[in-house]
Amino acid sequence: MLKFIRSDLAKFTAYKPHPSSDTAAGVPMQLDRLDTNESPDDLPPELKQKLAEIYQQLIETNRYPDGGHQTLKEAIAQYVNQSASLTSSVFTADHISVGNGSDELIRSLLIATCLGGEGSILVANPTFSMYGILAKTLGIPVVTVDRNPDNFEIDLKAAQSAIEQSQNPPIRVVFIVHPNSPTGNCLTAAEISWLKSLGEHILVVIDEAYFEFSQTTLVSEIAQRSNWVILRTFSKAFRLAAMRVGYCIAHPDAIAILEKVRLPYNLPSFSIAAGLIAMENSQLLLQSISQTLDQRNKLIEILSQNPALQITKSDANFIFLRLIANNPNTKTLHQKLKASGTLVREISGGLRITIGTPEENTHTCNRIQAALANLELQQFASK
Ligand SMILES: *Cc1c(COP(=O)(O)O)cnc(C)c1O
Repeated sequence: MLKFIRSDLAKFTAYKPHPSSDTAAGVPMQLDRLDTNESPDDLPPELKQKLAEIYQQLIETNRYPDGGHQTLKEAIAQYVNQSASLTSSVFTADHISVGNGSDELIRSLLIATCLGGEGSILVANPTFSMYGILAKTLGIPVVTVDRNPDNFEIDLKAAQSAIEQSQNPPIRVVFIVHPNSPTGNCLTAAEISWLKSLGEHILVVIDEAYFEFSQTTLVSEIAQRSNWVILRTFSKAFRLAAMRVGYCIAHPDAIAILEKVRLPYNLPSFSIAAGLIAMENSQLLLQSISQTLDQRNKLIEILSQNPALQITKSDANFIFLRLIANNPNTKTLHQKLKASGTLVREISGGLRITIGTPEENTHTCNRIQAALANLELQQFASK
């Protein structure tokens, strides 16, 4: 063991980036990659062409990137106003901070609030794993509460008592995904009102990574709440997962702190350019959303007819399904799907499946049905 490593760090295992993006691991490219909730569509060729021209003609690779992100922040602020049907002046560049993916912003928020034994975080499982992983790498304690196993609503009683009882250190941040991953459900009125009841000494982070699919946002709360932050990303609906661009919307005072914490040149010039292209062409890029939602609803409808499956409503670009009995188990179904060419995410006792192209979704449907029928036959034969 390395003797200079923090003792708490030595104990835990590293986050394993997804096999689907790890081409070196020998995952063949023809697999349907439905395990990381990306868009199935690349940028349209004309936008890629534009980006290539920017790279060739405008980006000087010997120069540091724009460290202030002013133009990109202005474009994002405008999109945020539009997206919440607000007048154009509500949010400005002063309400925005841009990160190397929202992962960087999550880490910056943790550094700004909890580091040095000052605070712990609260999450409601199952949820996005990065909050807990990043907190632990910083030595920040993670307090967890459960969700209702049927509708995935947060156990608010447990959450409230966690807030009251966590002392050394107290809970400083509550991380919530809206709609949640992997379960796809939006916050309920009761959950929102609980979040509103939290005191100003607690930061409320609403991660709206799937906003473009849910079309539900709490962004207008930012205007009156200085302890709320909304996170968004370009990695999903905007088709830029490869570029690593995320942003947050918050009170200018909170933004000023985040700007203090971030690395000076956190975004490569090419990523900044891609983010701008996405904002300038948001309507074009978001045109595919309605097809994704139609496809999702269709997939849910068909798979719900299978008595072996339990599927809940989704407000995002993925579905979450569980097996009604644990026989065959989820792991087996996951492996069968992979063997037949569909990669999905096995998580929290279920499968989270991204909505892909119509062709991929047909595969998903057929391969799940085939795997279940096949497993049933095997069980029958072994009896
Ligand atoms: C995909 C996702 C993100 C995006 O992270 P990036 O670092 O911006 O790629 C953030 N939050 C949630 C809940 C996600 O599912």
